[in-house]
Parts: sequence; structure tokens; C-alpha cells
Amino acid sequence: MASVSLKKLSKIYGPGTKEQFHAVKHIDLEVKDKEFMVLVGPSGCGKSTTLRMIAGLEEASDGDLFIGNERVNDVLPKDRGIAMVFQNYALYPHMSVADNMAFGLKLRKLPKSEIKKRVDEAAEILGLRDLLGRRPKALSGGQRQRVALGRAIVRKPSVFLFDEPLSNLDAKMRVQMRAEISKLHERLDATMIYVTHDQTEAMTMGDRICVMNDGEIKQVNRPIEIYESPADMFTAGFVGLPQMNFLEGRVVASAGNSGSDFISSGEYPIKISLEQNAEQVAKINKDREVVLGVRPEHYILCEEGDSRAIEAVVEVREPLGAESFIYLRLRSGESLVVRLKGIISFEVGHALFIKPDLNEIHLFDAESKERI
Ligand code: ATP
Repeated sequence: MASVSLKKLSKIYGPGTKEQFHAVKHIDLEVKDKEFMVLVGPSGCGKSTTLRMIAGLEEASDGDLFIGNERVNDVLPKDRGIAMVFQNYALYPHMSVADNMAFGLKLRKLPKSEIKKRVDEAAEILGLRDLLGRRPKALSGGQRQRVALGRAIVRKPSVFLFDEPLSNLDAKMRVQMRAEISKLHERLDATMIYVTHDQTEAMTMGDRICVMNDGEIKQVNRPIEIYESPADMFTAGFVGLPQMNFLEGRVVASAGNSGSDFISSGEYPIKISLEQNAEQVAKINKDREVVLGVRPEHYILCEEGDSRAIEAVVEVREPLGAESFIYLRLRSGESLVVRLKGIISFEVGHALFIKPDLNEIHLFDAESKERI
């Protein structure tokens, strides 16, 4: 197995032409041996380009790429010790499941007995034993993706690369395959790099997540740390469903006073007490423009008379059974979404009062968008 290391790696499509486009911008990333790293970000952020550079399907414009200790920028894809699983499975329609899995090994002229052993092993791991004689068109989407996984496994690569492998599956099958790929990672103890735009996949599968936007890496960390301490507003908004609420405001009393008031649109002073948020509050000065980030589950219902109460009107309710998402409009016109336990019976138009849980607030600089 092997680590993967990107050093100032860049990709410029169409260099020197009118269409020149800097898709990946000098990124540094260290994927450890046996780690499951998820590259996540919105469409067009450069995650597939990054994966394709690691695979050797796209040439890096600048920077260095190491697999293990070897610099592989100039090594052919087939000699990089990687196997890639694509979104569209890329199976040969005229070949059986067994032949699809064996194809790469036959090309490499492995002995027949070794090929059979590896295909049987992979079929066992993936529950494909009874399907080995079928053609891809006689398989469900989930089964086809399992064959594609099998084809990667038989090669015994040092690094598995996945490019949105579950995007073509229905929601239920995606959940099942998510768990299967995680189990596979444990069983094979292999380095895996997995590209997705789906933050649930990122949160549930990754040992670490690399959040990308606009060709740059915004943050790399364990899922829970990214959720609890997002480095900037982009990451804060991208990870978490429904997304984090942001309220723009200004600090009207600075550290050193009895507390700091945070004002949203001049209407709702939210007191951030020094005891609970000393570290953050100590960094902010009076009049600084800030953004208050609060996840939907960290707003709580409160009484009208509460010193931090924010009045809001219910616009949309989404009761999901175990919890409800309630979309609210504040008097100032801003929108918020809160996530409450159980089925909430408030009617649309109902006025209620909420307040943020002060242990769970995030403060960002309004200009730099960075976490304070
Ligand atoms: P998606 O989730 O939509 O696949 P992505 O994050 O994987 O998005 P990439 O496919 O890496 O994004 O593309 C990054 C940017 O580079 C996009 O703006 C895309 O239009 C551009 N791009 C990709 N391939 C090429 C190409 N061959 N020529 C020119 N531009 C390209």
C-alpha cells in the first residue's frame, strides 16, 4: 500500500489559448497510507481533475505528485499501482462479469490459475459469485458498480481512486453501497481517494475530508472537526444539511466589557457572553463586521421575554418523522432554518421565538469570510 502526496499541483486547461482555465491551483495534500480521503466540493471545483491527475489520465501542468516515495508525474497510468472506479461503471457489454473482472489481468499476462483465484476472491467479497456468468446488461446498477469494484480489487493496487461511483444509483442503493465501500476499505486496508459532491458521503465515509472550491483546498480534517470547526464560511455552508444559518452583524461592545452584543440587521442584539465564548470574543473589536453562523440544530425555542429571543414567523414546515425542518423569516427579512426533534405542529404564519445555543456558535469575519 502507499501514501499519495500532492505538492503545489496545478492544472491549466488550454494553456496559452483564449479558453485557458486554471482548474486546480497549486494544491498541497498528503494522503496517508491506508487512509480513506474524500475530495468534496461543488460542481466544477476541480476534484475530478485532481483525481485524474493522480491516476495519470490528466497531465499535471505544474507541481509534483508522489505515490509512496516515487515521483510519478512521468509514469504511465498503468504503472502507477492505482485502480480507478468510475461513475458510469465502464464495463465491457459483450463480456461476462467474470471476464470483465479478469480482462486487465489477462492483458498483463498473469497465469490463468492466478486470474481465477483473484476473480473468485473478489466475487466472494462483493457477493457476485452467482452472477459471474451474466452480461452487464442483465445486472442492476448496484451490481454493475460492484463488478467495477471487483475489477479494481483484482488488480491489487496500492491506491484505489473513486470518481463519484455512486451517483448513478438510486437513494437506497447509494446508502447500501456507501456502507459496502467503507467495509471494503477496512477489509483491504488500502489507500482510497474518493471524489464526491455529496457531503453525506464525505461525512460518513472519509477518515479525512478535503473540501475544495474554485480549484483550491479550503480545509482538510476529520469529518467531525470540519463540522464543528469549519475554517471559513464556504466550508461551514457546504458541510451540513440543511446548511448553516448566517446572520450578518456588527459587534457593538468589545471584549473587556461585561459581554459582546452581536447585532443582526440592527434589530436583534444577540448577547455573546464572555464566559462561554471567551476565545472568540477576545479576538473581536467593537464595530467589527462579523457573520454569526449557527447550525439549524443549534437554535432552540425560547420564551418571548428571553434576553436573546429572536422573533420569527414559520414559512415552511418539513416534518420528517424523527425531526422537522422549520423554515423561518425574521422581522428583518432574513431567513433561517431550524431543526427540531419530532413532528412540530406549528402552522405556516405562526410566530415563535428562538435563540442560538451559545456553546455552538461560529463567528466569521464578514470581509475575509474566515473563522474568527
Ligand atoms: P463535477 O462534480 O461537476 O464533475 P469537478 O469538481 O469534478 O466537478 P472538474 O471536472 O475537475 O470539476 O473540472 C474543474 C473545472 O475545469 C471545471 O470548470 C471544468 O469546466 C474545467 N474542465 C474540466 N475538464 C476540462 C477540459 N478538458 N478542458 C477545459 N476545461 C475543463
